[in-house]
Amino acid sequence: MKKVPITVAYGDGIGPEIMEATLKVLFAAGAELEIETIEIGQKIYMQGNLTGIDPSAWESLKRTKVFLKAPITTPQGGGFKSLNVTFRKAFGLFANVRPCVAYHPFIFTKHPKLDLVIVRENEEDLYSGIEHRQSIDSYQALKVLSFQGTERIIRYAFEYARCFQRKKVSCFTKDNILKITDGMFHKVFERVGQEYPDIEKEHWIIDIGSAKLADSPESFDVIVLANLYGDILSDVAVQIAGSVGLGSSANIGDRYAMFEAIHGSAPRRAGQNVANPSGLLLAAVQMLIHIGQNAVADRVYNAWLRTIEEGIHTYDIFREGVSRKKVGTKEFSDQIIQNLGKEPEVLKPFCSTKFKENPKTNFSIVLPQEKKELVGVDVFVEYSSDPAQLAGHLKDCSESLILESIANRGMSVWPACFEEALLAGPYQCRFIKNKENNSTISHGDVVRLLDRIQKIGLEFTKTELLYTFNGMEGYSRSQGE
Ligand code: NAD
Repeated sequence: MKKVPITVAYGDGIGPEIMEATLKVLFAAGAELEIETIEIGQKIYMQGNLTGIDPSAWESLKRTKVFLKAPITTPQGGGFKSLNVTFRKAFGLFANVRPCVAYHPFIFTKHPKLDLVIVRENEEDLYSGIEHRQSIDSYQALKVLSFQGTERIIRYAFEYARCFQRKKVSCFTKDNILKITDGMFHKVFERVGQEYPDIEKEHWIIDIGSAKLADSPESFDVIVLANLYGDILSDVAVQIAGSVGLGSSANIGDRYAMFEAIHGSAPRRAGQNVANPSGLLLAAVQMLIHIGQNAVADRVYNAWLRTIEEGIHTYDIFREGVSRKKVGTKEFSDQIIQNLGKEPEVLKPFCSTKFKENPKTNFSIVLPQEKKELVGVDVFVEYSSDPAQLAGHLKDCSESLILESIANRGMSVWPACFEEALLAGPYQCRFIKNKENNSTISHGDVVRLLDRIQKIGLEFTKTELLYTFNGMEGYSRSQGE
């Protein structure tokens, strides 16, 4: 078998120990890998590089396109950027795939039948990191979902289910509240799902879906979610399966892929030969499947399962009465090496060789053809007094755009008003095209409106243009409007 070049980062804290243990097992199992090592993390951050990535690292990653990464320590504050978010965005790693499996009765869990995969969108949502402060008392972050990004992750989830013979895909959203963003995610799920009649599908509102996941995770198979929901729920799912120390993830793009444990660098455990290398080792199993070395992946996973069955456990999964021997990182990986070639006797043996191919990633996505029309503008105005008074100032600012409503943090305060509503931050003043004029409005009308507002001495902090798409409003209505 031809050696496959991969890039490896040993990381910080417990990173070097668990990477050493992982690579030792991989090579003992016959993995055909050519390792290129790169420097990322704390040492590079401390040199004043805010990304934490040495420039030479990019060359290796671009060459190999496959990255096995140990956890790193992100310094707090000081403008340091999350290295993971940088890699995900720079290499278009749009899908985060986290298998969550219970190893009952060998690792304690309340959910012995748990066996699910979380497919989390990896690049968009609140992780776009677009945040603003526009007044003394209000803070905001923008949730951005694209149609293309959504369709891509949903298609990937269905492709994943098909390739790995999973039966059901569940989608979690909060579209009862976020009707435009999460509403689009849900609609795309329903539409794309129709192309996969062989796979069962269901949608859950995220709050009750999460409760169901925590209570009876065995009823789920593949779950597809937007970035933040997926981040939170994948940790929950791995923890209730047994331990976050066992969690692995694959970050998959069209051309690049990154594999890592889900836990961090656990600095307090560093250098003591106590850390559990399982999360990184299982990430390496995902990597071996990705590069087509399935037989090696199966040997590694089955030897690991056998070791878990034998009760040879690191401290984090050690449980009196269940485990037989508490061991350190090195002894644990040595036992896995001894068990290479063996299969588990109670747990289900792992067999990735029966799966013929990896899920597709290069989807061609066709944008819907819709007629877009500018119909108004929300102008956010800082004003310290009564909203009815503000309405009085704004009423005659434009002939083509009429003041329709004023809201405060999504709650209507004019003309409809709830007396007890807390008022904070700028007012959202909605101007809609004057239907009596019976003509279209232009950006020029908006600019003239803003000019008038600043001339009467009011401070606007931002604007959002209001569009319809095929006549459907592309903006939300405030509560109580
Ligand atoms: P952590 O996951 O590093 O550790 C939390 C606790 O979990 C540890 O104290 C330890 O008791 C236990 N633990 C974690 N991994 C273990 C393992 N393999 N074996 C045994 N016990 C283990 O979380 P944290 O303390 O919040 O973060 C530490 C650092 O890691 C921070 O700088 C954080 O930014 C970083 N981090 C990095 C990544 C990554 O590189 N992907 C992910 C998460 C956190």
